[in-house]
Amino acid sequence: MAYQIWHPFTQMLNTHPQKVVSAKAARLTLADGRTLIDAISSWWVNTHGHCHPHIAEAIAQQAQQLEQVIFARITHPQAERLAERLTARLPDPLEVAFFSDDGSTAVEVALKMLLQYFENRDSPRDTFLALEGAYHGDTFGGMSVSARSVFTQAFERHMFQVHRLSLQSPTEDIFTQIERAAQQHRVAGLIVEPLIQGVAGMQMYSPEILEKMFRLARALDIRIIADEVMTGFGRTGRMWAIDHITTAPDIICLSKGITGGFLPLGLTVCSRDIYEAFLSQQTEKTFFHGHSYTGNALACAAANAALDLFEDADTWSSITFLEQTQQAFVETLACRSDVLNPRCLGTIAAFDLEDEQEQGYLHPISRRVADFCEQKGVLIRPLGHHVYLLPPYVISASELEQVHQVLLQGLDTAWQLDESD
Ligand SMILES: *Cc1c(COP(=O)(O)O)cnc(C)c1O
Repeated sequence: MAYQIWHPFTQMLNTHPQKVVSAKAARLTLADGRTLIDAISSWWVNTHGHCHPHIAEAIAQQAQQLEQVIFARITHPQAERLAERLTARLPDPLEVAFFSDDGSTAVEVALKMLLQYFENRDSPRDTFLALEGAYHGDTFGGMSVSARSVFTQAFERHMFQVHRLSLQSPTEDIFTQIERAAQQHRVAGLIVEPLIQGVAGMQMYSPEILEKMFRLARALDIRIIADEVMTGFGRTGRMWAIDHITTAPDIICLSKGITGGFLPLGLTVCSRDIYEAFLSQQTEKTFFHGHSYTGNALACAAANAALDLFEDADTWSSITFLEQTQQAFVETLACRSDVLNPRCLGTIAAFDLEDEQEQGYLHPISRRVADFCEQKGVLIRPLGHHVYLLPPYVISASELEQVHQVLLQGLDTAWQLDESD
């Protein structure tokens, strides 16, 4: 029987996926024996390197102890331990952990939680505030609060309305927009990717703006959701992006790096105030949301093992090294005329290529740069004309140097090809 695998976010016409058979630290090994440096942490999930022995061992042990159990009216030590350790690392009001499967569900849960929170308090609210360019996942709630784009086009009529805020508006600053929205709507929550909008092309904004937005939302009685699905677990140089500011959100969404990139797991951590609105003799106040694999014990064991590694000073020195080297690379990029807005936040470096024809996600030069890098043993995946590097923290100095050099050569070659077309 002919079979076909349909890959995510992929136009399958004429696409021939590379077959990866094994991986170690920052390197993937292909079926033909070649290796690729994973400069994008396999879609931003891998933190401590592929097949990290400590996490692999924790999963192997857990698999012989308890692999999965229904998570309604039942709990288990790995989930308890994870909730305790994570909330200890989060700012104060964040103490109640709801488990799910991935980043999209962590966001979906946050949105449903807030809507029902206001329902349960008999003061329903109906609007969310979200940033232009936002990405919060591919489920309907996640898509609704995400930017309208080629990703969401086919589903537009089926999504709920969201009040959008622009960080770049020339006429009205973001704070005025929030104030006006609060007058016009019954706003349940403000959802943001703190400090850096990933899918928008690694667009960065300052901690000062984030802090002021959070303070204002608080003052206006708007609940705050920090979607740290990408930024969590050290990406921005601190454990959480919100560690760069002092005002805490009411809900945080975690996933991607949570298991070190080993297993899918999502977590929505909320304040006690939100949780308490669901405690009642009235059944309908229950939060009726869950997934079959909620609280999966293997994923929780992986997450606990990944957390152990953040207690190791070596992890933080690797993060600092990566930060400094990426920063230096970005400074060298600043001298190139074909590179726009070189920027760096924590372990993430990014820049843009000219996009005069507004080809956006289908930008041909960045595709060529990526193809060149792949031929030279480096895996990148530009977001349209936005090119970025987001490697696992364990990438070695020489591998990182190779990534940077190959990317520069890729830029030279891609434009040359363009001229000869
Ligand atoms: C990736 C991402 C999501 C969605 O997570 P999935 O695990 O892919 O469903 C949500 N929010 C942000 C900020 C993300 O980067």
